[in-house]
Parts: sequence; structure tokens; C-alpha cells
Amino acid sequence: MNPFKLILIVLAFLSVSIHAQRDEASEILNDLCADDMYGRGYVKFGHIKAAKYIQEYYKKINLKSFKKNTYLQPFNIKANTFPNDLEISINGKVVIEGEDYMLDPASGSANGDFKLEIVDSKSISNFISKLSYSKITNLKGSAIVLNSSTTSNVDTLKIFNDLKIGLSQLYPVFWINNDKFTWSVSKEASEFPIIEIRDSMLQNADSVSLKINNLFLNDITTHNVIGKVNGKKNKTIIISAHYDHLGMMGEAIFPGANDNASGIAMLLSLAKYYSNKTPKYNLVFMAFGAEEAGILGSKYYVEHPYFNLDEIKFVVNLDILGTGDEGITVVNGVQHKKQFKELSKINKENNYLSKIKIRGRAANSDHYWFSQLGVPAFFIYTMGGIKAYHDVYDRSSTLPLTEFDDLYQLLIDFVATF
Ligand SMILES: [Zn+2]
Repeated sequence: MNPFKLILIVLAFLSVSIHAQRDEASEILNDLCADDMYGRGYVKFGHIKAAKYIQEYYKKINLKSFKKNTYLQPFNIKANTFPNDLEISINGKVVIEGEDYMLDPASGSANGDFKLEIVDSKSISNFISKLSYSKITNLKGSAIVLNSSTTSNVDTLKIFNDLKIGLSQLYPVFWINNDKFTWSVSKEASEFPIIEIRDSMLQNADSVSLKINNLFLNDITTHNVIGKVNGKKNKTIIISAHYDHLGMMGEAIFPGANDNASGIAMLLSLAKYYSNKTPKYNLVFMAFGAEEAGILGSKYYVEHPYFNLDEIKFVVNLDILGTGDEGITVVNGVQHKKQFKELSKINKENNYLSKIKIRGRAANSDHYWFSQLGVPAFFIYTMGGIKAYHDVYDRSSTLPLTEFDDLYQLLIDFVATF
């Protein structure tokens, strides 16, 4: 054979084996971010579909369960949702949810035509006195546009924010946001919607037509998905990641590729790696639900644990693992210096990641409730690369999984140090 051709074949094989983990992870990522998962939220049972997907994966790799015949730990939450088509037209022009505007997650409903009442930093005091002299009826049939982008004064901004909350019990509110749109899940709802929008969309507009209907769900049953690999010793290392995301806003789907299909892809890859081994310690894989609704799945777990929390040697929580161009950050690194040094040492020796940044406590993911109870825990997230976050652009097709393989190896090496 022509030696050049041989080299090409060898190279092709090498690149396949080098990226084996990443390739499998991309498949998981695509599955979890597909349209039929509906953003893994509370519209069209997206969260249930995602939990079932993880359950099937656990079953396939033969993880043990704590409860008979199920990996699911059910619990109940509240959430505000937008399951129906939304329609906003401004001076007759239809604008698109998720792209041209974003509903505040606590938005209520509004249907019909509304006259726009513009409030900026110049007119705000006049507007407030109009409110307090109970000429409020003048505003009937109005939607209030709060344009706080016209000021940088902290006190004025505070007044704008208070107005936003108060007025949304009485009128539809437009809130000018010329920066990035960021969505979340709300456990409460106001009477009327708060619509975040670019000021350019409202230029020369004097009226809007709205069809916005929220559905507040008081009692949703969602789940943690928990499986186990038995070790030689009766102590446990937990690998955790949340699988839920924001769901849908009208027809807009929030795929949540980086946040946190990427973490689940890593959790499942590690579960598969350990599933045919007997590690030193038990490894428990916890895919938490309802993180976006207020870190609720992990909170429920620590309040209803399957085994004594004293048995936990360490928790490694994974949330947002899709890039890594600028390395990773370790939350609680400051609290657990010994383990942080160990992690950094392995990384240096093997040239895995460009940087491991240390950070202190933060209540920003599922490690938090464990930490609060004195259980040692890290929360690891990747840095650099694309900036899509809590928006419609956090898609699997554009998530590079840049350092996925290196991080996979680093985590396996780290677990082995216990
Ligand atoms: Zn997250």
C-alpha cells in the first residue's frame, strides 16, 4: 500500500479513538436537545421525557437502583408556564418570542389592544405623581413602557424596578432591554405580562395587540433520576448534574445544550465507564430535576436521602461543560484545598486543561445543599467559547464540547485519588 494512504488511515483511526467520548456525548446532547424534549421543562411533559431517557440509559448500562424497579425519586414543584401560542404585534408588525422579545418568567396574561404609555427617566416623576393622585383610571386600556435604559442612576433604576413589579399587577408592562435576553423559571406569576423588548422594536409605536396567556401549574410531579455502581468500601462518591431546563415560551424552545445537557452527557459517560467495574467506593449518579426552578431537586434529595449523608466522601457536581477553551472553574475549591490541589496536580501532569480556576462558595447549582449540610462538594463548569446562556441559542448543533475528552479523563483520575 502507498505509505501516504496508510498514514491517512492510521490518522483517521487515531482521531476516532481520541474523540470517542466526545462523539458519544454529542449523540446524548442531540437527543436531550431535540425538539421532542421541548426544552426539558414543564410544557408538553419535556421534563418527564428527559427523565425517562436517563432512566433508559441507566437500565441499558445496568446501574443498580435504590428503590425497587425504579431510578426515579418523585417530588412536587410549582412553575409558571406558557404552553399556548403567543402573539404580540406592534403597529401591526408581529414580533417573535425568544428573538425579538422575552417574557419575564413570572408574566401573567393579557389579551386585546393596548395604548402605549411611555415612561423614561424624564417622565418618571410625573408618571408616579399621576399614579399617586389616583388618576390611575386614565391608564385603563394602556400598556406601560418602562424605559430605564435612559438612566444609569442607581436610585432611579431601583424605582423603575419597583414600578415594574407593582405595575404588572395592573397593566401589561414593556421593559426595555437592549442587552442579552436571559430567561428562567418562576415559582410565581403576576396578573399581567412583563415583556422585555429592544427599544428599536417600539420606535414610533403607539399601540400594541397582545395575546399572551400563562398557565400557572401548582402541583407538578417531577423527578430525580438516581442510579448506583457498588464499590468495595461502604463510602460513596456522588456524580451529579441537573437534566431539566427552561422548556418553552409559546413556540420558542430553549434547548439547554450547555446548560445542562452537557453535564448529563458527562454524567452518563462516567456512569458507563464505571458500570462494568468495581470501584473502591460506591459511585452514585444523581441526575437532578428542577434546578432551574430554584435548585429544587437536590434540595429534595438532601431532605429525603437514600443513605446517610455521612457516608458521602465527596460530591462532584457538573453543570455547563460544553466548552473549556479557557479551562474550568471549581466552586468550593477554596473550601476543599486538599482536593483542589490534587485536581490541579493531575491536570498539570497530564496537560488536560489550560487552566483550573479556584472559586469559593456559591449557591448556583446542585452542590449547594450538600455543602450547606457539611458534605464536601465541588461544582465544576467550563469557561470560554460560546456565550449562549438561558436563551434560544443554547443549541447542541453549535456547542463544541471542546474539552470534553480531557475533562472526562481528569474526572476519572480525580475520583481515583479518593
Ligand atoms: Zn444549569
